[in-house]
Amino acid sequence: MLLKGKPVADRIKEEIIKTVAECRNYGAPIPKLAILRVGERSDDVAYESRVLKNCSELGIEAEVVAVDNNICMVDFMAVLDRLNEDPKTHGILIFRPLPQQLDMEVVSRGIKPEKDIDCMSPVNAEKLFTGDISGIPPCTPEAVIEMLKHYQYELSGKNVVIVNRSMVLGKPLAMLFLAENATVTICHSKTKNLPQVTSSADIVITGAGKSKFFGTDYFNKDSVIIDVGINMVDGSLCGDVDFEEVSESVAAISPVPGGVGTVTSMLLLSHVIKAMKLQQRMK
Ligand code: NAP
Repeated sequence: MLLKGKPVADRIKEEIIKTVAECRNYGAPIPKLAILRVGERSDDVAYESRVLKNCSELGIEAEVVAVDNNICMVDFMAVLDRLNEDPKTHGILIFRPLPQQLDMEVVSRGIKPEKDIDCMSPVNAEKLFTGDISGIPPCTPEAVIEMLKHYQYELSGKNVVIVNRSMVLGKPLAMLFLAENATVTICHSKTKNLPQVTSSADIVITGAGKSKFFGTDYFNKDSVIIDVGINMVDGSLCGDVDFEEVSESVAAISPVPGGVGTVTSMLLLSHVIKAMKLQQRMK
């Protein structure tokens, strides 16, 4: 079975459209996203234009604040503070990685938790790790769970292996799976006998960032795979799993492109609405 992202993203999109219309009826402010971009990296600019297109389709206001790649920490924090204090801005997205002169830890602590739509702030991370649902979870791990739920996979009691231990993916995703009563194993580059570990799991999440790394020996015929890896090979995108080799011999797999990434970008916008509601103390 091919686990496509589009039907999942479309469902989230419908929910956003409905919520935006309801907010209008109740006289709530128009939700607004601010994108804070440092420099002109082509992948940032491409992602930004997709986000802006989605925003205009969904009735979400958007502002791009583009700053010079050489911006100093003091100036960067001043821009962030302006967005933090702007009552019309509900969600702030900062493209990462940041250039070296900008201290990521200070920036993470600087973003207002209720405007932090991709869980950069340690306040939101702590909420995730303590099971407090009032925080805003990171988009990519949440997208993985949304994909599996949409395709009606029972998670309770399942053995899940995540190949990634970053704060962007593996660690927060482990918390989300635990909240669903799954049994979770996190793997990384020092894990021994990786094919043995992954092939004994019910569900495998690949996020090593290595193109076509996972072949059939990493899975079994009942494996359900969500491939989070995004890799560029000879000008085209591919995942971490060798899709051609693996897709016929497992139970289900998400493609790249067209899989989890599609869901991630729609969830980002649903987080802008959640942030607006948090700030307005709406249910
Ligand atoms: P990262 O920080 O580089 O993390 C990669 C992880 O994979 C690390 O935990 C690393 O282990 C592990 N790893 C690398 N090689 C391995 C190997 N041979 N065997 C086992 N584990 C291995 O990257 P990231 O920011 O988390 O992103 C991971 C991937 O997800 C990238 O391809 C990125 O483009 C993609 N991504 C996709 C989305 C989406 O929406 N679809 C969003 C964000 C990121 P160590 O910790 O030991 O180094």
